[in-house]
Order: sequence, then C-alpha cells, then structure tokens
Amino acid sequence: GNMGRAFEYVIVGGGVAAGYAALEFARRGVSHAQLCIISEEPVAPYERPTLSKNFLLPESPARLPSFHTCVGANEELLTPQWYEEHGIELVLGTRVESADVGQKSLLTAAGETIQYEILIIATGAQAIKLEEFGVNESKAENVCYLRDLADANRLVDVMQSCTGGNAVVIGGGYLAMECAASLVTNKINVTMVFPEAHCMPRLFTPKIATYYEDYYESRGVKFIRGTILSSFEFDSNGKVTAVNLRDGSRIPADMVVVGIGIRPNTSLFKGQLAMEKGGIKVNGKFQTSNDSVYAVGDVAVFPVHLCGRIHRLEHVDSARKSAKHAVAAILEPDKTGEFEYLPLFYSKAFVFSWRFYGDNAGEAVHFGDYSGTTFGAYWINNGQLVGSFLEGGTEEEFEAIANATQLKPAVDDPTNAGMQGLNFALTI
Ligand code: FAD
Repeated sequence: GNMGRAFEYVIVGGGVAAGYAALEFARRGVSHAQLCIISEEPVAPYERPTLSKNFLLPESPARLPSFHTCVGANEELLTPQWYEEHGIELVLGTRVESADVGQKSLLTAAGETIQYEILIIATGAQAIKLEEFGVNESKAENVCYLRDLADANRLVDVMQSCTGGNAVVIGGGYLAMECAASLVTNKINVTMVFPEAHCMPRLFTPKIATYYEDYYESRGVKFIRGTILSSFEFDSNGKVTAVNLRDGSRIPADMVVVGIGIRPNTSLFKGQLAMEKGGIKVNGKFQTSNDSVYAVGDVAVFPVHLCGRIHRLEHVDSARKSAKHAVAAILEPDKTGEFEYLPLFYSKAFVFSWRFYGDNAGEAVHFGDYSGTTFGAYWINNGQLVGSFLEGGTEEEFEAIANATQLKPAVDDPTNAGMQGLNFALTI
C-alpha cells in the first residue's frame, strides 16, 4: 500500500478562509492531530489582498511573515509556528489531485491518501487566462497575473526590470485598478484597456467611476475603453513587446498585467457535489449537498438573506466570516444558526479607500463632495435602502453606513436621502 493518514477535520486549500477557519477551530478547543490543512502554496495562509497593495510598494513592501492571517481582521498572526504549537497539521506545497466524497478521502500529488470525517473546501479561485479567449501569450515572462504569492513575486521582479517603461493593464476591475496604481507608484507608465465604458462596471456608477478615472489620469494613467486585446507581439526571446487591440490600435509594452476575472476552483468536486452559479452550493451553515462536506470562501454559493438570493462572493470579508461560521456550525451545530451576512467589498489604491455594503440593486443616489475626498452613494430598491458606498470615510462613518444598510430602512424620497448624505445613515 498507499501511505495514508486520517484526521477528524481536513481543509483543502490554504488561503484566507483556511487561516480564519484554523483560528476558529483553535479557539473552540480543537487540538492535536484533529485538524489538517492541505495547500498547494508553499506558505501558511496569508491575507491575499496584501499582494496587490503593500506587497507592491517600492519602499518597505510587506513581506511574510507580517501578513499571514488573521492580521487583516486585527486578529492573531498565525505563523507556521502557531500551527505547530496548536497541533494543526499544515501540509504545504501539496496539491490535492482528486477527492472522493463517498470514501471521504483525498489523494495528494505526493501520492498520499488523506481521510477525513468532515471536509472543508476552501480552494478559492484562479485567474482567468487570456488563452481562454484565444490570445496566445506563449508563457511570456513579462505577462503577469496576480492570484498568489508566486505571481506577486514574479510581478515584483518584472516591475523592477521595467522602471521608466510602459505597462499595459488588461481589465477594469478592482484588481486591475489596484495594480495600475502600484505600477504608477513604481514609476511605470500605465495604459489600462477594458471593454466597458468605465472601470468597475459591476459596482460603480458612471459618476463614481469618473471620479477615480480622473484621478488616475492626473497620475498619468491612460484609459482605452470599449475595446479588448486581440494579440501580442513578441521579440525573439518570447517577451511581449506590444499589445494589439481589437480597435486596430497598437500599444508598445515592456510588461503586461492581466486582471480579467477569476474562476472558482471546483473541479475536484464536479459530479460529486451540487453546483450552482459556477460555485459549490451550500446552505446557511455552509454545508454542501454532502453532509460531511462544507465549502467556504470564493467557491461557496450561499444564501445571502439580506439580498434575498444566493450569491457567490469573491471578497475577503466573506471568506473570513464564512470560514468562521462554518467551523461554528461544524463544532456546535445546535447553537449555530443560519449565516446572516451583510456583504462587504472594499478596495484601496493610491490615497483612496472605499467600502461597499449590501447589494447594488435598484436606483443609485449620490451624496457628498465629488470634487473633494469624501463621497458616496446609496442604492434604493423597492423603496428600501439596500446598498451603500463610501469613499474616504472615517471608521465611524463606515460603521454608520453598514448599520443603516443592515437595517434596510424605508426610503420614501431617494433624492432627499442623497441630499442628507451621511447624515441619512447616521440618523437611522
Ligand atoms: P484563496 O485565498 O484563494 O485560497 C485558496 C487556496 O487553496 C490557495 O492557497 C490555493 O493554492 C489552494 N488550492 C486550490 N486548489 C487546491 C488543490 N487542489 N489542492 C491544494 N490546494 C489548493 N477582496 C476584497 O474584498 N478586497 C480586496 O481588496 C481584495 N484584494 C485582493 C487582491 C488580490 C491580489 C487577490 C488575488 C484577491 C483579493 N481579494 C480582495 C479577494 C480575496 O483575497 C478572496 O476573496 C479570498 O482570498 C478568498 O479566500 P479563499 O480562502 O476562498 O481562497
């Protein structure tokens, strides 16, 4: 035989959700040899959002161990030694190749079989590749994606070799926006290319997007909107030298950063667990269609009661809180109710910091000073406040819009709510 081990609890994937789950298991008294985390990455769980922010700073960039989980939520820093002290088995640099939920077993790339009583799936997501759109990138070393630490290290290397040069950023989502800001801070000229009329089209209104785009332009970023990449040009070493766009234009490039979206890592469980909306379907306790299997973080499609529908959220707050809730549901099923979640999505770039709470359904009304530094928007759907956006708020102000959104107050006159601005949230 096959070598093997068995644990009561196994987490497949060692990212944000795994780190927060580990802390919750430890707090609830799970100890020696009960819990095992298997991760393809060679390092203990860390706060992934740091990779596109402080990790890319030209001076005093963040490096491990400083951003292991759970510092992002102002909790303990879980170093590899912490896992050792808590008797949590960290199997790093090891990909799970297959899973059999009937047999309750996993097979690793190292050829080991690991049995579980309860499995938590926390495999996150992977960057969507240009190859999927028929763009040949020939594994060019100066085309960068950003999902994990290895990607981030490579991005830093490429960036450092391009100072003063030109970067093309493909995509207009938050990851592309954060990367563009980091490139500018590293003295690289940036052109952003995306198919929509504005950045962050899934969340931002044109007015919000314009605010950020104007600032980016003032920092030298060029926007090419309404078109997509059609091909790359390569030099004889296989490095990309230019980007050709569908609209016929050509942009010389010393490097390219691609941020065009992610796809959840669910393939291990295809045909074994119920799937929906591209993710693994779970109930309000993060239990999948198999009683012994839970799914959390970016892979989970769960009921968001506040929005009245099921959602797959690709945000760090949801990864942290879903993991914590799943562990509570596993260890204390009778005392743990359904997950009641107010979605939170945030981003930071340059001097900006915004948060969005809730759902961006219905009509948006803007408030605050769009020529200054603090402004926002409320989303009102069927006469109720359902979502709030705020840039540049204080902690109290962010809390106020969160509380207001959570309560879903009636809004008879959206224009008036907009006129009241933050006071509207502060007086709910
Ligand atoms: P992940 O953190 O991705 O962890 C998944 C882990 O599973 C990885 O370590 C992976 O290697 C491992 N894995 C996958 N398959 C296997 C396998 N078969 N075997 C073994 N291991 C496997 N969200 C925000 O709200 N705000 C932000 O500002 C923000 N910034 C971000 C910046 C970057 C650069 C990135 C990439 C994401 C950012 N996010 C942000 C999103 C947030 O980081 C994710 O929502 C969160 O990491 C999801 O946690 P997770 O545990 O589900 O997945």
